Amino acid sequence: MGSHEANINPADVSLLRQIPAVDELLGRPALRELEARVGRRLVVDSTRRVLQGLRGRIARGELKSLSVQSLERDIVAATEGEADLTLRPVINATGVILHTNLGRAPLATEAIRHVAETAGQYSNLEYDLEGGGRGKRDQHTDRLFARLLGAERTLVVNNNAAAVFLALHALAEGGEVIVSRGELIEIGGAFRIPDICAQSGARLCEVGTTNRTRIDDYAAAVNERTRVLMRVHPSNFRMVGFTERPELAEVVRLGRERNLLVLEDLGSGCLLDFSPLGIRDEPPAAASIAAGVDVVTFSGDKMLGGPQAGILAGKREPLEAIRRNPLFRALRVDKMMIAALAATVTLYLKDDRKAIPALRMITMTREEISARAERLAGRISSLADFSAKLEDGESVVGGGSTPGQSLPTRLVAVEHQRLSATSLEAALRRSSPPVIARIDNDRLLLDLRTVFEEQEGEIIRAFEESGGNDER
Ligand SMILES: *Cc1c(COP(=O)(O)O)cnc(C)c1O
Repeated sequence: MGSHEANINPADVSLLRQIPAVDELLGRPALRELEARVGRRLVVDSTRRVLQGLRGRIARGELKSLSVQSLERDIVAATEGEADLTLRPVINATGVILHTNLGRAPLATEAIRHVAETAGQYSNLEYDLEGGGRGKRDQHTDRLFARLLGAERTLVVNNNAAAVFLALHALAEGGEVIVSRGELIEIGGAFRIPDICAQSGARLCEVGTTNRTRIDDYAAAVNERTRVLMRVHPSNFRMVGFTERPELAEVVRLGRERNLLVLEDLGSGCLLDFSPLGIRDEPPAAASIAAGVDVVTFSGDKMLGGPQAGILAGKREPLEAIRRNPLFRALRVDKMMIAALAATVTLYLKDDRKAIPALRMITMTREEISARAERLAGRISSLADFSAKLEDGESVVGGGSTPGQSLPTRLVAVEHQRLSATSLEAALRRSSPPVIARIDNDRLLLDLRTVFEEQEGEIIRAFEESGGNDER
């Protein structure tokens, strides 16, 4: 400290000398207790930081006395929260079921249980319990998808973007892929079909026009370099009016005639037929397999309602080629994802749809939601300064599926005597657990379709706290 002290007035030099040593502070009961909770590293770090700040303040002459108790308090405050995990559960009151920012599909209890029981121990992930030798991790999902989809072979990778990339890379690198101009989509997060094609090493051959593409357009573009005919589900956008695209069966027929593989990126890829529920344009993956598509790809955490994953299903030969590609190893999934996916898919085999939260939310009726909304609105209205009423509204599936289609719901519209909708929304977002609500026309709206029933009490508590902390 010597040279620093030269320019400091003598009273402050004496203050600087009173600063306790780090070890001395760490030995005090309050900090020992803190250390027991969060570990030594964080406490040492914040102690050094607080002491450094203190020296600065003394050097600037801002401090006239020093108290070890207040130092202790500063260190505790600086350490609080540092050891908290930043990925936290939130309550989704937006009514967007597959909310990408909020983690898409919540997992089924059975999936969580299976992850917990297999991930905390050793498992037969890649071990053949019959023969005692090496097995493949695919074995845990392959059989399930064979039953559900009628697929000869299924592979699972990190997500659907990886599945599309890997399929193109393994099946069409150095050759051409034919895609309709009406299907050159962007999903968001920079997943664009032309870019994925380029990265995979396949040359994109665009055919048709934005709104109309016929099978003859595909046929005319086939040449000796063509390897794949690709179909892409439009996912997050729809074209209306004067539009046309060939039936899947026509594309499959052309593929057979010209000895080309047919690849379909289904996006959501439902394991059920959702059309009886009024959800159009999300064809079941089994229909594509039945139509003869060689490889279909889809997401695990969209309408399937499982973990993030990309599923490739279809004919044995092209899927074995994909499996042999060195990049498969780079994109493979770990045991937790396999456990969650296998357990989720098993629920489909049992036809236990209610056990899959995303499916349960999609199938929830306006009446069911209305009864819960009524109850919640009553509880909110009984809080001081709050009032709540119900109104008709719409929930959406989200996750880049079923745009323009919505599920009828009953919304809880909440008002506070003094707080604006935006400050109420912010207060809910900062409560613990955070409650994510909708704002519409300066009103705060809650959609219970995406709220688990057992979370309703926490919503009430969040309102109590946000109303109570009002000091404006
Ligand atoms: C969502 C989607 C993807 C990307 O899937 P992820 O699982 O999010 O990687 C790719 N293609 C289509 C058509 C999609 O809808």
